[in-house]
Amino acid sequence: MASLRKILSHALEDEDNRLLMASSPIFIMHVLALGALFTGFSWAAVVALLITYVVRVFALTAGFHRYFSHRSFKTSRAFQFVLAWVGTSAAQLGPMWWAANHRHHHQHSDKEEDIHSPVVKDAFWAHVGWVLCRAYGTIQHHRIKDLSKYPELRFVDRFHILPVLSLIGLLYAVGSLLNAYYPALGTSGIQMVMWGFFLSTILVYHVTFCVNSVTHIVGSKRFNNDDESRNSWWVALLTFGEGWHNNHHRWPLSARQGMYWWELDITYLLLRAFEKVGLIWDIKVYPKNIYDEAAILKVEDEAA
Ligand SMILES: [Zn+2]
Ligand SMILES: [Zn+2]
Repeated sequence: MASLRKILSHALEDEDNRLLMASSPIFIMHVLALGALFTGFSWAAVVALLITYVVRVFALTAGFHRYFSHRSFKTSRAFQFVLAWVGTSAAQLGPMWWAANHRHHHQHSDKEEDIHSPVVKDAFWAHVGWVLCRAYGTIQHHRIKDLSKYPELRFVDRFHILPVLSLIGLLYAVGSLLNAYYPALGTSGIQMVMWGFFLSTILVYHVTFCVNSVTHIVGSKRFNNDDESRNSWWVALLTFGEGWHNNHHRWPLSARQGMYWWELDITYLLLRAFEKVGLIWDIKVYPKNIYDEAAILKVEDEAA
């Protein structure tokens, strides 16, 4: 007992160990995701995982990133709230916190002040280390004045646990109902929560984190941006278009991140579908001068 007390008091004194303690929710999430293995397999659980992955990755890329951080399209206040709620269910805090940090990243990309640069610090820091650090837990309000005027967004940001708990509750209810009425599916409330929330959330975490780590380290550079942003087709595939990060850093206002049809950007395709049914409008895309610049750089590159 005495030695345990000694270890704990030492842990609280040491900066690295304080970081470790602050990061415990993420560790717990990873451990619980492993719990999926102990709740057994069912195709129903796999379907739940796929749905919660697809819906939340879209809410993060289309909502948190392209809408809240960059205002690259317009929508109604109701759909804005839906994007905020669903995105927050990915357990990456609320849209205001997310957008404030992301705007900071664009202002200081790969410079000393950048909060998650693998160039300034290292790949682990850029991937997950900065999330584990309490220093970035507070919201930089001056960066998100356009968002903070909406009380419902302030509410979601403040009570960011609510969308998370409601998703867990929904999955538990669906699993329990399926267990009661369709026992042949072999699922249950707890299995649905493990696969559809914990395992899915960990996957969403790591693909989101890859945009901050991988696409500032490996991939191709189309534009000579003043940072290390790169285009990566496989990160784009996993994140529904976010991997075209060198393009994105060149012109962050564009709701489209791939520039050509072969740069698959699933989020953009979905946004166009949403536009057709009137949910969103005024979608911004790369202007002609950006395409001209890309063409010139390609010719120069081929001549070199
Ligand atoms: Zn970046
Ligand atoms: Zn961005």
